[in-house]
Amino acid sequence: MSPYQHSTFPAELYGGRLTIDLNAIAANWSDLNNRLIGETECAAAIKADAYGAGQAKVGPRLFEAGCRTFFTAVPTEAVELRQILPEATIYVLDGLLPGTAEHFLGQNIRPVLGSLEELEEWAGICRSAGKSLAAAVHVDTGIHRLGLSPQEFQASMQNKELLGPFVPSLIMSHLACGSVPDHPMNREQLDRFRELTASFPSIPKSLANSAGILMSSEYHFDLVRPGIALYGGMAIETAPNPMKPVAKVEAKIMIVRDVPQGDTIGYGAKQTAHRPLKNAVIAAGYADGMLRRASSSDDRPGGFGMIGGHKAPILGRISMDMITLDVTDVPEHLLRRGAFVEMLGPNVAAAEIAAYAETIDYEYLTSLGRRFERVYGPLS
Ligand SMILES: *Cc1c(COP(=O)(O)O)cnc(C)c1O
Repeated sequence: MSPYQHSTFPAELYGGRLTIDLNAIAANWSDLNNRLIGETECAAAIKADAYGAGQAKVGPRLFEAGCRTFFTAVPTEAVELRQILPEATIYVLDGLLPGTAEHFLGQNIRPVLGSLEELEEWAGICRSAGKSLAAAVHVDTGIHRLGLSPQEFQASMQNKELLGPFVPSLIMSHLACGSVPDHPMNREQLDRFRELTASFPSIPKSLANSAGILMSSEYHFDLVRPGIALYGGMAIETAPNPMKPVAKVEAKIMIVRDVPQGDTIGYGAKQTAHRPLKNAVIAAGYADGMLRRASSSDDRPGGFGMIGGHKAPILGRISMDMITLDVTDVPEHLLRRGAFVEMLGPNVAAAEIAAYAETIDYEYLTSLGRRFERVYGPLS
C-alpha cells in the first residue's frame, strides 16, 4: 500500500490539506521510550482522536512500534480502539461513567477509577465476580480534577471489606504543572505520590505525562503516559521542543489582491494597511480549526503562514472559511492561484501560532481539519 492515504474526494475539491506523518509519531514514541530506564513502560495517550491525528491510523502504528498500553478519555474512544487493537491494554481516563461497567468488562477495557464512588462500584463488581477485574486507581496529588483524595485513597486501600478481591492494575496520578519544570508543585506532587504509594510495592505506578518524562527519571515510575510529545507538541514551555513535527496544514491561495494604504482588511475593519499591501486570501478558516484569536489588528500582531520560506503574517480577522495573509514581500512566482501556504508544520510550530491566540498547541492540534483533505504520509 502507498504511504499516502487520500480522503474521499479528489484533491482539487479541498480548500486545504492536513498531512500526518505516522512514522514521525512512531519515531517520537521510540525517542521517549529510549529515555526510560529499566522496566518502565512507555504507553500512549491517544484521546481526542490521537490529538487530532486520527486514532484509527495512529493506534496500529504505535502498536507496531511496540506500544502496548493506550489511554483514551471517554468510553466511545476506547470501544473504537478495541475494534482496531484486539490485544492492546486500553484505559479510559475519565473512568467509570454511570452504566458503563458492563461495556468495560465486555470489551476488556479498563477504567481509571477517579472517585471513591467509582472505586466502590468496581470493587462491588469484583466481589460479585469473586475475582479482581483490571482497573487503575487515580489518586489526586494536587490537580483537584479526577482522583481519590489522599485520605480517601489511604482509607479505601486499607479497607479489605470494601476492596474484596480487587487489586488495582495501576495506581496513577497526574501533574498540574509539568510544562513548567521549575514549578514547586511538581516536586510536591512527586513526594506526595511516593508517600501515598509506598505501601504498594507490587502494584505498578504512573505519574508522568509528556512533561514528566522530559523533566526527570524520578517522575517515570513503572509506566509513563505521553500524549502531546508523541504528536510533536511542546510539552515543556521553558525548553526547546525535542520532538519531531508530525502534522502539516496547507491551504490554497484563492486570490492575491492589492490593498491601498489606509484601507482596512477583514471583518470589523480592525487592521489597517499601513503601507500599500499585497494580500493573499487562502481557503482555511476557524471552521477548519484555525484559531480565530490568532487574528491581527492595529493593536496586536496575529499568527502567520509560510510560503516557500517566506513569512506571511495574518492580516485582520480570521473568518470562518478564509484567512488573509500579507504577501507584500513574497516573490510573485510563489503566489499562483491554488498554491499551498503552510499554516502549520515543520516551519510553523503549532505552539507558536497557539501563543498568538493565547492558548496551547494541544487545543490547536485537537481542533484541526474536519474539512481538510487528510493525507497520511511524509510532511515533505
Ligand atoms: C492527557 C493526559 C495525559 C497526556 O498528557 P500530555 O501532556 O499530552 O503528555 C496523561 N495523563 C492524563 C491523566 C491525561 O489526562
